Amino acid sequence: MVTQESPKEGFREQLGVLDKKGGRQWMYPKQVNGFFYKARTVFGIFLLVILFGMPLIKVNGHPFMLFNILERKFIVFGIPFFPQDFFILALSLISFIVFIALFTVVFGRLFCGWACPQTVFMEMVFRRIEYWIEGDANAQKKLNESPWTTEKVIKKTAKHTIFFSISFLIAHTFLSYLIGVDEVKKVITEGIVENWKTFLVLILFTGAFYAVFAFMREIVCIVACPYGRMQSVLLDSNSIVVAYDTVRGEPRGKIKKGDETPKGDCVDCKLCVQVCPTGIDIRNGTQLECINCTACIDVCDDVMVKIGKPKKLIRYDSVNGIKSGKKLKLSARIIGYSTVLVLLLVIIGIALFTRTDVQANVMRTPGMMYQQIDANTVANLYNISLVNKSFDSKEITLKLEDGQVGKIKLLGNQNSIKLKPQEITKATFFIEIPNKSISESHMKLKIKVFKNGEFFTDIKTTFLAPAE
Ligand code: SF4
Ligand code: SF4
Repeated sequence: MVTQESPKEGFREQLGVLDKKGGRQWMYPKQVNGFFYKARTVFGIFLLVILFGMPLIKVNGHPFMLFNILERKFIVFGIPFFPQDFFILALSLISFIVFIALFTVVFGRLFCGWACPQTVFMEMVFRRIEYWIEGDANAQKKLNESPWTTEKVIKKTAKHTIFFSISFLIAHTFLSYLIGVDEVKKVITEGIVENWKTFLVLILFTGAFYAVFAFMREIVCIVACPYGRMQSVLLDSNSIVVAYDTVRGEPRGKIKKGDETPKGDCVDCKLCVQVCPTGIDIRNGTQLECINCTACIDVCDDVMVKIGKPKKLIRYDSVNGIKSGKKLKLSARIIGYSTVLVLLLVIIGIALFTRTDVQANVMRTPGMMYQQIDANTVANLYNISLVNKSFDSKEITLKLEDGQVGKIKLLGNQNSIKLKPQEITKATFFIEIPNKSISESHMKLKIKVFKNGEFFTDIKTTFLAPAE
């Protein structure tokens, strides 16, 4: 982990959320209301609208987004994906991880502070409700330490009822991404008894969200989040993080009348510590617990305005930027990550561009030799497997390549294979070729495949025939 000058030694020995005995110390962050808090509120609302709205969007009657892991049905931006397309999803996932890594190298935990659902829900929804019902930090602490009066019972009941209701709503949304909004609607319209399994999952999700936002809170970011744990290997001295300007701020100290000792701009008011939802002192340097929520920037800017000093004593900057005033440089690591990311995006683009909505594979039926069906004709038996990745029915027809004498005969007296939407099916067919058109015992053939009369692919195969 990269550090700035550390005015307070030993701060890395203990988490800010633990007391001296190692027990959980409940956080009471003071409410802030500065430029970044307002900007994050607007951005948070935008993200919440997308998060809650997306499962309701349908394209031609199908979900816009669906991640049905159990039934292996995936729809991303209206495009259905099948297990056969998993390499595209896997590549997208790898690209996303590389993107996050690259992004973190340059911009630190910007994602955590602005876009992580945990932070958005915690700071923009649940914490605001808590301030509204229980008051600011001091009032909350007083209420928690007070005996159970009628007022306390009313406030706590109101808060937890609202928290549970919002968790219930989030669980509905989360489940809508997994099984589709129609399945979730069934529980509401048809009743719990008929859909008890879905209801049970809903309650489990609700319980999990309620536990996270009402009780676990910053513990999720500090202990459970894998992205948070990766910070120590991703950040370097040029990464942009929420940082305290030690050059300008130190030596810190309260302003006292008649005190001639030279002082930095930090008046040691500790407001930056009091607003921190993870209980750290950013003046000690970059720390694993910092989720880049910007609350300390806002509150310190207010202090600077009040004492007539320039803002940004705490700001977005890199450790090197603060120490030397140098701007961000392109490091070998940034160039390396960018190259890998661009390559992955190109591969994904090619895979998506060449992806067809029907996939066809042909194999000669295993264990079968050729058949001499009459004195003049040889036949081979083949299996075709077809995947319809679209939401429409398809009619598949097969032909031998132009110039190849012979015919394709589907078993069951069919002329075509009918594919239902999103169906995976198999069919069997003979290729019959007159003796006089057979050039060798292992002839290479191409089968042209048509969907709804339109050519879309050709498949190479081998035709076995008696040796001359
Ligand atoms: S809010 Fe600013 S002035 Fe106050 S202690 Fe923190 S860094 Fe120093
Ligand atoms: S140190 Fe500042 S930015 Fe980091 S979590 Fe605390 S308040 Fe938020």
